[in-house]
Amino acid sequence: MFRTHYSNQITPELNGQKIRVAGWVYEVKDLGGIKFVWIRDREGIIQITAPKKKVSEEIFKLIPKLNSEDVVAAEGIVNFTPKAKLGFEIIPEKIIVLSKSESPLPLDPTGKVKAELDTRLDNRFIDLRKPEIMALFRIRSSVFKAVRDFFHQEGFIEIHTPKIIATATEGGTELFPMKYFEKDAFLAQSPQLYKQIMMASGLDKVFEIAPIFRAEEHNTTRHLNEAWSIDAEIAFIEHEDEVMQVLEKLVAYTIGYVKEHNEKELKLLNFELEEPKLPFRRITYTKALEILKDLGKDIPWGEDIDTEGEKILGQYIKETYDEDLYFLTQYPSEAKPFYIMRYDDKPEICRAFDLEYRGIEITSGGQREHRYDILKAQIAEKGLNPESFDFYLKAFRYGMPPHGGFGLGAERLIKQMLNLQNIREVILFPRDRKRLTP
Ligand code: ATP
Ligand code: MG
Repeated sequence: MFRTHYSNQITPELNGQKIRVAGWVYEVKDLGGIKFVWIRDREGIIQITAPKKKVSEEIFKLIPKLNSEDVVAAEGIVNFTPKAKLGFEIIPEKIIVLSKSESPLPLDPTGKVKAELDTRLDNRFIDLRKPEIMALFRIRSSVFKAVRDFFHQEGFIEIHTPKIIATATEGGTELFPMKYFEKDAFLAQSPQLYKQIMMASGLDKVFEIAPIFRAEEHNTTRHLNEAWSIDAEIAFIEHEDEVMQVLEKLVAYTIGYVKEHNEKELKLLNFELEEPKLPFRRITYTKALEILKDLGKDIPWGEDIDTEGEKILGQYIKETYDEDLYFLTQYPSEAKPFYIMRYDDKPEICRAFDLEYRGIEITSGGQREHRYDILKAQIAEKGLNPESFDFYLKAFRYGMPPHGGFGLGAERLIKQMLNLQNIREVILFPRDRKRLTP
């Protein structure tokens, strides 16, 4: 390997030893009798110091020829000295240019020259050379690790369901159509129906982490056309609140994990991440509407709470209770999909919930209707054709336990966790209304 140590692994015990470092040329300085190169790697910056008397003529001549962002590897002796800005330097015995960088660069990797989001996304590989941008994706990596760890600790089994599907998941809208040989097919908007089918298998507690595809027309700061969904489904529940308890534990665990393992990244982002207290507040839909009405926002009962309503509510909860995360529960049945179970004694409301983070929905979930006849009737009631759901309904005819689950948007979670303006910040190559490359 061209590298034996990352910048953050160069500790005083290495003083006087020969090591190899590698990365991108950050800066070059020529003071005549002494020349410097700063190399940037994933973890930080390394200073290469080349005094004329101590290095070969070849190295001395090479350094001024280096350009910003050339990829180089250097071998040399570690020297801890207070004279170096970072506390240490490397006196090079060998410098190899592994790849030259053209100039001018399409994007300034130091971030000194501000760039539009579009320019940044067009040059994502350079954008990530900025430590604060790389920090977002290191946090994203932690989030996925935490989520997987949590599910395994809690006895969940990871599943993978198809992303090419024949029928609509929830009603046929917002799907990307595609050709599947002689047939028409769609990209899956969620694993909903398949994870529910798995409840009839005896796996009992399952999770899936996979992309979802939605042909959302609107260009917003919280929608993507390809997003990553963290889905779970649990069998033998007695109440939707049992699903909410798993979800709040998962979210709190994930936030705690990031706080513990991404101290450096959070500092780069200059962000104080607050760990939420359990349990999260539960507010019924009807109560939320009352609060909104008092705040001057009138939503007719039965309608979904719109973006503005969510935002107002988020501010109210923050100001009143100093909380960022809370559940909205007991939605009107008409506002939620056919597969949600209704309250037997009050069928106008159902066992659905949303989890809100700083005034934006990050999860929808609920207890599902597992009783075949009622489920079939609810499909028809929503104006859908039960026949096209045969493959799904079949699983409810041969022993289906009561169950419930949720879909948590990974990008929404990360965006809200870090209080970012745009969801595109936390996905490498966003797919949106205009973006299909890179
Ligand atoms: P919204 O009303 O905010 O568009 P939704 O209610 O249509 O979301 P659900 O079908 O409930 O979304 O999906 C579950 C979760 O998946 C959402 O809470 C969200 O976190 C995430 N999600 C859904 N659609 C998108 C999208 N287009 N881009 C990013 N994340 C999404
Ligand atoms: Mg939803």
